[in-house]
Amino acid sequence: MVKRKTIAVIGGGVSGLAAAKAFDEKGHRVIGFERSHDFGGVWELSRSYPDVQTQSPKDLYCYTDHPMPEDYPEWPKGPQVHAYLHSYAQKHKLSRLFRLNSNILSMDRRHDGKPGWTLTIDEAGHVRQEDFDFVAICTGQFSEKNIISHPGQEDFIAQGGQVIHSSDYTDPAMMQGKRVVVLGGSKSATDIAVNAAKNGAKQVTMVYRENVWRVPYFVGGINFKHLLYMRAQEQQFNQWGKSPFQRVIAGIPKPLVWANFRGLETLLKLQLGLKKWNMVPDTPIEKEASCSLPIVTPGLFESFKSGAVTPIRGTFERYEGDEVLLTTGDRVKADIVVLAVGWKLGIPYLAQQFRDKLIEADGQYRTFRLSVNPDLPEMGFVGFNSSFCTILSAEMIANWLVRYADGQLAQQPSRAQMEANIEMMLDWRRRERPAAQVYGGLCSAPFHFKHFDELLSDMGARRRKRANPLAEQFSYPSAPAYGEFLASTPQYHAE
Ligand SMILES: Cc1cc2nc3c(=O)[nH]c(=O)nc-3n(C[C@H](O)[C@H](O)[C@H](O)COP(=O)(O)OP(=O)(O)OC[C@H]3O[C@@H](n4cnc5c(N)ncnc54)[C@H](O)[C@@H]3O)c2cc1C
Repeated sequence: MVKRKTIAVIGGGVSGLAAAKAFDEKGHRVIGFERSHDFGGVWELSRSYPDVQTQSPKDLYCYTDHPMPEDYPEWPKGPQVHAYLHSYAQKHKLSRLFRLNSNILSMDRRHDGKPGWTLTIDEAGHVRQEDFDFVAICTGQFSEKNIISHPGQEDFIAQGGQVIHSSDYTDPAMMQGKRVVVLGGSKSATDIAVNAAKNGAKQVTMVYRENVWRVPYFVGGINFKHLLYMRAQEQQFNQWGKSPFQRVIAGIPKPLVWANFRGLETLLKLQLGLKKWNMVPDTPIEKEASCSLPIVTPGLFESFKSGAVTPIRGTFERYEGDEVLLTTGDRVKADIVVLAVGWKLGIPYLAQQFRDKLIEADGQYRTFRLSVNPDLPEMGFVGFNSSFCTILSAEMIANWLVRYADGQLAQQPSRAQMEANIEMMLDWRRRERPAAQVYGGLCSAPFHFKHFDELLSDMGARRRKRANPLAEQFSYPSAPAYGEFLASTPQYHAE
């Protein structure tokens, strides 16, 4: 018999909702904590920059039992995703499980000596403690702003300049007539540069450090979901855990794989005009594909062409008066600087002694299946297995985690198995696939199928693949199909 536990879910974004549903469904007592006034995480309206839209097509960015509405566009806008998440919470009556405006200040082993954790919670100014048998950490990779500054910034601000983090750009009216400099080359940087140009900025400069491969929504006229998300494609990247025999077999089609990726690169260079903008990356695309691979903001290269946005490869050296001095020697006049330099990955509320067990000196996380660590019992991560279809990844790992917590995985891993797997994955990231080290190694893309196969196998799913082998090899992960696979796992209920 599985004993009913009291579970804390920290975070009310995509992953917190998935975790709350998975644990509640199995009969546990769930209390969710969200520090903001609303659900949604990165999609919460006051945190979204104008015109934000998904990178994933809508049928790749949804829960297994809840498709996005038919009238949504292929790549829904931020407010539509936010409304979708609310409709999911409503469908599964998840609001009753959450306390909003509740910030977790710290997380330590239970003070009463029982297994589990004591959370210190700030509920709208009222600080108190509560004990839990298990904690699902769902605070994502975008919760602590990466704030950087450069020499001269204070004087720049004193003389009327503005410096903001990308997530604080919520009002396009602020760009009207302004000289804008965006620091960064990620999707949020290009989104904001294009948006500022569209909203009357006098001049927009995008200062970025490295050339990276960018994928347009349509590659050679074909929606990228039909090209990049296939099991057949995924097998061409250097995956983890290959036996010596599998390595030999994988070597046979290498010339074809090489030709395939060179073909894709040529197509991207031609379609986007990368050579003209001196934006051809040095790294082969198959080595770079990971969660940080940006999708091209619509209108980006057109804005370069029209002069509405000027790209400069370099970074900031310092501010001087109303100018930003770049490492290239360029001086750019600025009224507003947008720092699109991302987020600090971390779990600041977890006591340092536990973080030391979890995070290696080079920032890599020690997690089994991107969720649990044998030195940190009674806790696990949901959504730290980010991907190109993070809602599905979060739901898959939430379902895995509840079974892990209940000792109900068909293959419940021993400490030794987890440790061996963690070491193998660290070694693979460091030696064979450096791109997989992004976000502390917490990214399952582009290995969606392999990751899901492992989770389903652990859970004892009777079905793991679609009946049609061609569909299984040559089409993207289907959320409804994964719903069926999850339903084929052994079921139980905590009492
Ligand atoms: C602009 C943008 C576009 C994106 N587009 C895509 C896409 O197309 N496809 C895709 O797969 N992914 C995309 N992502 C990645 C995205 O982060 C994930 O898809 C997903 O939304 C992450 O959800 P989450 O719940 O794990 O984390 P978050 O959405 O970050 O939610 C974490 C929640 O935890 C709360 N929290 C943090 N600390 C505490 C605390 N101490 N106490 C209480 N609550 C706390 C936060 O307030 C937040 O609500 C995008 C991200 C951004 C920023």
